[in-house]
Amino acid sequence: MSLKITKECINCGACELECPNKAIYEGGKKWSISEGTSIKNDYIYKGKKILKNKKYKPISNDIYYIVKEKCTECIGFFKYPQCAAVCPVDCCVKDKKNKESIKTLMKKKNILHNKL
Ligand code: SF4
Ligand code: SF4
Repeated sequence: MSLKITKECINCGACELECPNKAIYEGGKKWSISEGTSIKNDYIYKGKKILKNKKYKPISNDIYYIVKEKCTECIGFFKYPQCAAVCPVDCCVKDKKNKESIKTLMKKKNILHNKL
């Protein structure tokens, strides 16, 4: 499953620098699937088409947020989620509403990084 950031976030920015998928954005900033990845095409995630060149509205305006379409739990890069490892207030947590298998996460990682 992807991770999410809870309201305890103090906007320190430490997690953003560690994410291998550029899945973490500052509140108020738009996100895109291609930023920080080498994705080749538009991407279907859980039945929804994510356009390669589109900038999407921020998911949060006040605190940092994680894009579930890009988060892979760091699989394929690191043993543990790096955002959770560096967060000083432990507010990067698993998003239990967005369950994904290890196989699905690995496939997502390969799509994001131009291996599929
Ligand atoms: S778990 Fe890894 S891939 Fe997901 S947001 Fe955190 S650092 Fe990024
Ligand atoms: S490391 Fe934690 S407190 Fe800092 S911006 Fe990320 S989620 Fe917020």
